[in-house]
Amino acid sequence: DTVAAPTASFDDFGLRPEILQSIRYAGFKVPSPIQQQAIPLVLEGRDVVGQAHTGTGKTAAFGLPTLNQMALDRGVEALIIVPTRELANQVSDELFKYGKKLGIHTVTVYGGSSYNRQIGLIERGAQVVIATPGRLKDILERNMLADFAPSTVILDEADEMLDMGFLDDINTIFDFLPTDRQTLLFSATMPKPIKALAERILVDPAFVSITQEETTNKDIAQQYYVIEENERDDAIIRLLDAEELEKTIVFCRTKREVDRLSNVLSSVGYNAKGLHGDMEQRQRESVIRGLKENAIDILVATDVAARGIHINDVSHVINYHIPFDPESYVHRIGRTGRAGQKGVAITLVTPLEFKELQRIRKIVGTQMAHSFIPTKQQVQS
Ligand code: ADP
Ligand code: MG
Repeated sequence: DTVAAPTASFDDFGLRPEILQSIRYAGFKVPSPIQQQAIPLVLEGRDVVGQAHTGTGKTAAFGLPTLNQMALDRGVEALIIVPTRELANQVSDELFKYGKKLGIHTVTVYGGSSYNRQIGLIERGAQVVIATPGRLKDILERNMLADFAPSTVILDEADEMLDMGFLDDINTIFDFLPTDRQTLLFSATMPKPIKALAERILVDPAFVSITQEETTNKDIAQQYYVIEENERDDAIIRLLDAEELEKTIVFCRTKREVDRLSNVLSSVGYNAKGLHGDMEQRQRESVIRGLKENAIDILVATDVAARGIHINDVSHVINYHIPFDPESYVHRIGRTGRAGQKGVAITLVTPLEFKELQRIRKIVGTQMAHSFIPTKQQVQS
């Protein structure tokens, strides 16, 4: 007789009913692979290193068990360190959803907002603090938080934090944290410096890695187009005209290029907006909201500004310029093909950039198809 493979279910973890209810309310039917593996380990109290590609549900993988084990009567119990304020807000929104029924409060802490307001909110009884490294380090060094002793500390999107140069800040932050804590580290990629960091700040960690041969998602069709340097704008406009776009993110290398290209696209009638680090926070939040609510079709962004933005229905990612490194390529195209949907990732390359393209293809190890920019006649017909 045959034994059916057990179907994974959120009910198998022994989570509190309030959290199970929130999961159902969020519409999650089954745990994702990283959630299946990480949740039991976190609930056992282990330190955990989790690697899985972008869009595979890492937030709930650490968030659900962390919220589940809260005592709820002893101040801040969990600290989550994230690379950007946008991501801080997104993680906060998601954890607030899961913890609402338990009365869990979350506070975000990042630069550009008032210290007093953030500290006031924490002292009024938040259980979860979600912070970017720079501001958190400041607050800890200035001794602005009394009795700050989270029992769970999470590094989210650790590879992005290291890429952004936050290693020193992270090391300083850990000098201020209690040693009898549970530490979790999640990352889409696991380069050597991340492993070294994990070995330094985690104790006997369990390693959970959900990767196939390749680091990128099979739901993303990857294409490249060979163009001449002076054809970039023309090529992108023809692509935008020819493809069936729902929501598109176009990546540029510089802030100036973001400003210029978003103006070019707007001037030819596209609903396009730019996003980069020199914009005011209010403006940035308004652009992200516009994209989420379909008021904007095309986001033109730098790598840093687009990091950690979680928008589920991005149909196309276009690399206006090939990114500087393979990990950046993986992160960029990971903006599409999320939650099982299909996505298209298109890279424009000049003959001079071909070597860089080959290097990325080799390291990323996925299929990229060569396509041709549609001619003006093809677009018009
Ligand atoms: P990652 O951090 O791995 O990039 P996220 O945690 O941001 O991914 O999750 C990506 C999206 O998938 C989010 O919109 C999240 O709400 C959704 N999601 C997470 N877990 C599940 C699940 N088990 N079932 C369905 N959707 C999920
Ligand atoms: Mg994440």
